[in-house]
Amino acid sequence: MKKVLFTIQEYIDKFLFGRRCCGCQTQGEAICQNCLEHIPFAEETENYGIYGLYDYGNPIVSHAIWNLKYKHKGQEIKLLTKKSSVLMSEIISEHLQSSSQEKITLVPIPQYKRKTETRGFNQSLLIAKWFSKEIPNSKVLNILIKNKDTIPQSHLSDRKARQKNIANTMYVKNNYPPAGGKSTIYILVDDVTTTGATFLEAMRALKSGGAKNILCIALAHGYKRK
Ligand SMILES: [Zn+2]
Repeated sequence: MKKVLFTIQEYIDKFLFGRRCCGCQTQGEAICQNCLEHIPFAEETENYGIYGLYDYGNPIVSHAIWNLKYKHKGQEIKLLTKKSSVLMSEIISEHLQSSSQEKITLVPIPQYKRKTETRGFNQSLLIAKWFSKEIPNSKVLNILIKNKDTIPQSHLSDRKARQKNIANTMYVKNNYPPAGGKSTIYILVDDVTTTGATFLEAMRALKSGGAKNILCIALAHGYKRK
């Protein structure tokens, strides 16, 4: 149902109001080719295996994430995931432990149930699905559950406070058996990573469920506020 609503919203934007680029206001795509080409990829995070593809400080990137989370519009994010397909392939190749035969499973960062009910969707699940379209032979498994309504990490600037806030809040759904075990690379997906605390908690949960090879990719890297 949500997919239908997204499609209708995109149709209304494009054909009734005339969609404009959120960067330069040129009529056409949600992000025009010129603006898209000029969005740089972010620097690597300080945590091994954790990647934020774009800089959250870039106004187009932050607008795209805001539009998805609060206005249910995903067109900009779809263009950003498409642009990052080569970079994602490079990141994944670096982490393949055996051969290219390894299965690729995308796992969205879970939301507390009530939050998903209020918002109507989990943006990380949507981003995982859009990433999956750009990664050949990958699939999305929504196997993590968050069992606590925590303070939003963005409200906490201190790394330790973020780690404490999110600690032991996630687990693997119904003791889901790790599909393929060693032969599967799990990619945790989130919208924004800052200190990496949320990803580290999700990694802990996946590892306790038996996953061995895990890496984390967020659409954006939000740098710690000074
Ligand atoms: Zn533009």
